[in-house]
Amino acid sequence: MTPAAYAGSQLATGLEPPELAYAGLPMPVAHPEAAKEMAAEDTEIAEAIAAGTEWMIEVLARLVDKDTTLGNEESGQGVMREALRELGLDPVDVPMDPEALHAHPAASPFDWDVRNKRNVVATWAPPDRDGGLSLILNGHIDVVSPEPRSQWISDPFTAHVAEDWLYGRGAADMKCGLAAILGAVKGLRELGLSPNAPLYVESVVEEECTGNGALQTLLAGYRADAAIIAEPFGAAITTSQVGVLWFDVVIEGLPGHAAESGHAVNAIETSLTMISALRSLEAELNASPPPPYDQYPHPISLNIGQIHAGDWNSTVPGECVTGYRIATYPGMPVQALRTRIERVVADAVAEKPEAFSRPPQVVYRGFAAEGYELSQDHLLVNSLSSAYARHMGSPPALVATTGTTDARVFGHVAGIPSVCFGPYAESAHGVGERVYLPSVVQTAQVMGLFIRDWCGLS
Ligand SMILES: [Zn+2]
Repeated sequence: MTPAAYAGSQLATGLEPPELAYAGLPMPVAHPEAAKEMAAEDTEIAEAIAAGTEWMIEVLARLVDKDTTLGNEESGQGVMREALRELGLDPVDVPMDPEALHAHPAASPFDWDVRNKRNVVATWAPPDRDGGLSLILNGHIDVVSPEPRSQWISDPFTAHVAEDWLYGRGAADMKCGLAAILGAVKGLRELGLSPNAPLYVESVVEEECTGNGALQTLLAGYRADAAIIAEPFGAAITTSQVGVLWFDVVIEGLPGHAAESGHAVNAIETSLTMISALRSLEAELNASPPPPYDQYPHPISLNIGQIHAGDWNSTVPGECVTGYRIATYPGMPVQALRTRIERVVADAVAEKPEAFSRPPQVVYRGFAAEGYELSQDHLLVNSLSSAYARHMGSPPALVATTGTTDARVFGHVAGIPSVCFGPYAESAHGVGERVYLPSVVQTAQVMGLFIRDWCGLS
């Protein structure tokens, strides 16, 4: 069944750009004149890529069948190595180097073991070529937890297909994008074509918590003239994204017997006060957003993602750790946001000192990600829009997202212009996550046309 909002049907119906898998904001297309006819070579490429549909779906299912939550990414990387070898490429491991990452100013802080984690990169670079621009096609192998599993009607780590949709954790975010990248490369290779400048296929770890996997590939020396992250924004190119910061607030109360709770200080109740104090910071940040985020009703979300406290119903809990995620606008340094958070926490203590047995700690682990924007006039945006428009018949939406992606890592750390472009999917991070399979093939086809324009093929 074709979803009404899907771009494929948009061609026939003249509907507006689709609802996106993530919160996405359609913006005017800067270069509608980029749309041109498909050349004969384009048609040949699109057909060769479509001929690999079954393989793409089969690889996607293999990927979704692996639980690649944080710490378990290696099983999925095994599938990626296999698939790259099936294409005749030679995948190389780029292991995470904890010392190098801890020392890098753009790394997100982490306190878990990353030593056995590996990114996978395959380089497709025929010798003695010139004239093209190099390209990174990137996706992340890690997925978020499917909990609570009881809400899924089938096993989240067993892919299943129904009516053109493939379901499972990671089907949308973003194993479908990895499958599309592989499908694009396969089609071109079947035609005996190869790029005139190096093309790198990357499958990275830790996009969902730090971005340090993508950073590690840059530290290993993989650079290019552009990067496309195949995140499932469907029928849209993402040119702007917010920054994201993770932090924990550790609140110490005073444990005691529930029957004499007058002397004890309940850390869970204090944490509720802290949550509402931080909600006012969220409200302040949403009060006058800069463009394009001024078109969103609520661009900055504070999410209470975790709360750990207490172990006995008759004991007043003495500690409560709350894990938060908050966003920033492009251009706002992470450190400025940290300062504002710490001020809110200090003010909350000053207002009610009896609710704390000692000053709360703010601990930073995970995302310390700045926002990122690429001009809508950039050659990469024009060129990808043109490939899209040739294939789909109308230009893509250019969108700003209220989430973060690895595009910022390439952009900020290496000055590599980066956008997101990928299949149409739904329920990322949710129950019943799914991707619309025809959009995986179309993403691969648009990528194939773009590679022809950007890298050159011969
Ligand atoms: Zn993602």
